[in-house]
Amino acid sequence: MVDCLFCKFVKKELPTRVVFEDDTCLAFEDINPKAPVHVLVIPKKHLSSTNAMTSEDETGLGHLTLVARKIAQEKKIDQSGYRTVMNTGPDAGQSVFHIHLHLLGGRSMGWPPG
Ligand code: 5GP
Ligand code: ZN
Repeated sequence: MVDCLFCKFVKKELPTRVVFEDDTCLAFEDINPKAPVHVLVIPKKHLSSTNAMTSEDETGLGHLTLVARKIAQEKKIDQSGYRTVMNTGPDAGQSVFHIHLHLLGGRSMGWPPG
């Protein structure tokens, strides 16, 4: 999608701090981290949110979780714990409309989220 910030990261039209990339996904450091580890894992395919998913996207979005786990292992937070979050829509506070999985860790987190 032409005006999508995260699509521009995928196409390398804008720089970002990439931590992992493969054929179908990209992972990069969040610009405004909410925890010592805060990485966003996105599919290369543009999807605005989970509301835009179809069954065709099931495998690709499942892949994001495995990539997040791999990054958690590399960042050595897999044993201390981490949170994977996908915000959808206004009540969840979604602000970028290219689907992304937040990987957060490196500190203790409260529940329920605010
Ligand atoms: P959301 O609120 O949609 O769930 O999450 C969007 C995330 O994207 C936020 O955590 C925000 O800090 C991050 N973000 C917004 N703009 C940029 C940017 O230009 N670069 C990077 N790396 N992250 C961004
Ligand atoms: Zn996009």
